[in-house]
Amino acid sequence: MTVLQAHYDVVIVGGGPAGLAAAVGARDSGCGRILIVDREKEMGGILNQCIHSGFGLHNFKEELTGPEYADRFIRRVRSEPGIDILSESFILDISPDLRVTLMGSSIGLVEIRAGAVVLAMGARERARGAIRTPGYRPAGVMTAGLAQRMVNMEGLLPGKRIAILGSGDIGLIMARRLTLEGCEVTGVYEIMPYCNGLTRNVVQCLKDFDIPLHLSTTMAFIHGRDRVQKVTLAPVADDCQPQLAKAWDVDCDTILMSIGLIPENELSRQLRLQMDPITGGPRVSSTLETSLPGVFACGNVLHIHDLVDYVTEESMRAGAFAGELAQGRRRPQDNIELQAGDNVRYCVPHTLSPDREISVYLRCIRPQRDCILRLGNFLEKPLRLVIPSEMIHLTIKPEILQRFYGTTLRIDIVPREDA
Ligand SMILES: Cc1cc2nc3c(=O)[nH]c(=O)nc-3n(C[C@H](O)[C@H](O)[C@H](O)COP(=O)(O)OP(=O)(O)OC[C@H]3O[C@@H](n4cnc5c(N)ncnc54)[C@H](O)[C@@H]3O)c2cc1C
Repeated sequence: MTVLQAHYDVVIVGGGPAGLAAAVGARDSGCGRILIVDREKEMGGILNQCIHSGFGLHNFKEELTGPEYADRFIRRVRSEPGIDILSESFILDISPDLRVTLMGSSIGLVEIRAGAVVLAMGARERARGAIRTPGYRPAGVMTAGLAQRMVNMEGLLPGKRIAILGSGDIGLIMARRLTLEGCEVTGVYEIMPYCNGLTRNVVQCLKDFDIPLHLSTTMAFIHGRDRVQKVTLAPVADDCQPQLAKAWDVDCDTILMSIGLIPENELSRQLRLQMDPITGGPRVSSTLETSLPGVFACGNVLHIHDLVDYVTEESMRAGAFAGELAQGRRRPQDNIELQAGDNVRYCVPHTLSPDREISVYLRCIRPQRDCILRLGNFLEKPLRLVIPSEMIHLTIKPEILQRFYGTTLRIDIVPREDA
């Protein structure tokens, strides 16, 4: 049983891949007392229900399952002296002077002090209410992640004939999983003219299993009073409105929603952190520090990641910067604003410092072929294809950043002929 101390150098909220990597980063920075708190029984976060392979290709050059990937970090964290792990406990509140209130069955209600806090609470799925699908409210409509948990962790099948609304990665993965479990997946229906999941998942989960992907298509009505009986599907026009004259019905007993993730930021809002309305996460500096000094953020709570390897890379840095701060080593303030320009939906972090190499993550607004990523007027990187579902990772050298000292650095994605 974990015996809690009254003071920790770094307290980490969430024991998913972000929280675990932040603990490793904080330890590597020299911190002696680190606490990871998670509300679940096991550390690993959402990875515990992702039993398919495909994790760790960047970090370990191996294809691991989600639990295998999490296990590597759980072992590392357990083997380090000075890292306490507290499961089945919930962080209720963080005060601006970094007093952390937590509650758990083994500890009761406790307040501890922290030198720095890392927010790594992950994300939750957008559910049916978020998109107001017309129709009845029968049993059998659920998020793809809930179905993933039922099948992979509880040994239950959500239904027999499944329609999937939205082409997010979890929906694509579940299309394959449910087919392998003997269900019939009628198709994946996506309102946008492009898929919202990774290309590798479209190939490995849909094409390889002959599951149709209907783009520019939405669910116009859900039928069935007690249980889902069928769904009316319709193509959408350019304004995304369903063209009901061309609608058709598909029989199914289950509808899975894979329509995006929302960063889990209740604590961030309680702390009145400055938020980015586009990412849904806090605004952060180049050290991943939020607008409240001493509070850092990483992983899906900061912005939604498509690859866990990126979560790990970002979170190790957040943990290391939090650890440095807790040990009294503060970095100079950032003096460059980062601005999302043409065809860039967002960039993280929001401000930069020219004193070191900086990792920037960004997403495009719409798919574009043969384009150029332009950084101010100084750096141009040719890109064959950008799509909104695949995050772009960029490292910017200090010599480039020094040219923008005290100004704004704009990132654009432009066609090659405009560059
Ligand atoms: C349902 C679902 C399925 C996914 N499937 C895949 C997939 O198949 N492949 C893939 O590459 N990516 C998948 N992802 C993306 C995945 O979320 C990221 O790759 C990665 O897991 C994000 O890590 P994280 O640590 O930021 O968040 P998470 O893994 O979500 O971990 C956050 C942790 O914080 C804990 N927590 C939250 N609030 C508190 C609190 N107040 N107190 C204590 N603990 C708290 C939660 O219990 C959780 O364990 C999936 C995401 C979801 C939501």
